[in-house]
Amino acid sequence: MKLISTKNNNILSSFKNAIFYPMPSDGGLWTFKEIKKMDDTFLKTLHKMSLPDISYNIFKHLDNNNEICDNDLKKICEQTFNIPLPIKKLENNLYVAELFHGNTLAFKDFGATFLANIMNYFINQNTQDIHILTATSGDTGGAVADAFGNINGNIKVSILYPKNKISKVQEYQMTTQSKNITCYEIDGTFDHCQDIVKRAFMDNEINNNLSSANSINIGRLIAQIFYYFYIYANTPVQNKDNIVISIPSGNVGNITGCLIAKKLGLNIKTCIGACNINNTFSQYINSGITPVKKVIETYSNAMDISNPSNLERIKHIYNNNIEQIQQDVIGTTTNDEQTVNTIKNIYEKYGYVIDPHTAVAIDGFKQIQSNNDVGIIISTAHYCKFLNIVEKAINQKLSLPTRVDNLFSKQTNKISSNNDYNEWKKIFMVTV
Ligand SMILES: *Cc1c(COP(=O)(O)O)cnc(C)c1O
Repeated sequence: MKLISTKNNNILSSFKNAIFYPMPSDGGLWTFKEIKKMDDTFLKTLHKMSLPDISYNIFKHLDNNNEICDNDLKKICEQTFNIPLPIKKLENNLYVAELFHGNTLAFKDFGATFLANIMNYFINQNTQDIHILTATSGDTGGAVADAFGNINGNIKVSILYPKNKISKVQEYQMTTQSKNITCYEIDGTFDHCQDIVKRAFMDNEINNNLSSANSINIGRLIAQIFYYFYIYANTPVQNKDNIVISIPSGNVGNITGCLIAKKLGLNIKTCIGACNINNTFSQYINSGITPVKKVIETYSNAMDISNPSNLERIKHIYNNNIEQIQQDVIGTTTNDEQTVNTIKNIYEKYGYVIDPHTAVAIDGFKQIQSNNDVGIIISTAHYCKFLNIVEKAINQKLSLPTRVDNLFSKQTNKISSNNDYNEWKKIFMVTV
């Protein structure tokens, strides 16, 4: 695979190097040197293919120098993409693609599991030691802990999360995993966690085998391209020329995956980058200018992000041409009140329960929908991860999936630290 840095197109990387060293030395992000269309036969036979088949074909197309051999790639795709992906019809022009049926009930399971399996594949070839260090505001940590806890490999993982700022389900998903996963509960905010991680990567005393599994890792991003082809092919509408995909967006990795799918030839009319009031992305789409904003806490807290890291990739894919970006993407903004109203309305109208992130995407679609549009809403999390908000919105008690109920009887393991880098480092060095 030929990858380049977004900041300097002369800095090249293989796929393997890019997943273990996700940040190029010039401070850019790894991205594809070129994105060629998939061939017509593939695009015309999508509906006959399973998600693992689709994923295998697209990866092979992008991986033109065969970094992963065919049989192993097939196996990895089958192991990773066996997550159910139902598409629910709400009405004739409104569908919900449920991407939350993985182990931690969030779409991040797709990317994290693919990354874990790929890293495991490369490590088994080389027996090199690796330590993943990641900060999370909630969903990433669970997905990463589960994905790397399941590969039986010798990859160690450390996850930092802000104390009392994640939901109970999220905390249990993260802290009840196998021994190779260590969770640090930091007395502070997500920004403190991220700052500690950033300093650790620059700290020569500990950074020699550190790698990251956060959403800028191209190994996660690439898995978020494949499912758009599956969703498009399996949405039961006759005329597929007016498909609008609405994506709840934070670090905008998921929508970057969708835009790459479009470049690969998928016939999507428009993508909606649906934001909560932390709407740096939709403001950029509307004005071409990236505002400087402070993060505000919202109900859809996985999108409480002021500086969406993958925006740089989108700009690069479109040669920094804002008019061209605007042809493919619409940005919308939905506040907490509109979020709650949407959860309530969708429940009353269809008897269907959604989480706050999905509500932001539905509201975004409703804001811009024109007559012939067929909306496919990307549902990124199961409502039980945000139970309090959802129960209040629909004024009903909800039951938890058995998988989550079982989780609460498990033993949790976490290490507490204040938000000072040196304090954390002391603990880290004796723990690992
Ligand atoms: C991470 C996350 C998002 C945002 O995805 P990005 O790729 O960062 O834009 C949306 N919804 C949920 C539930 C998430 O966990």
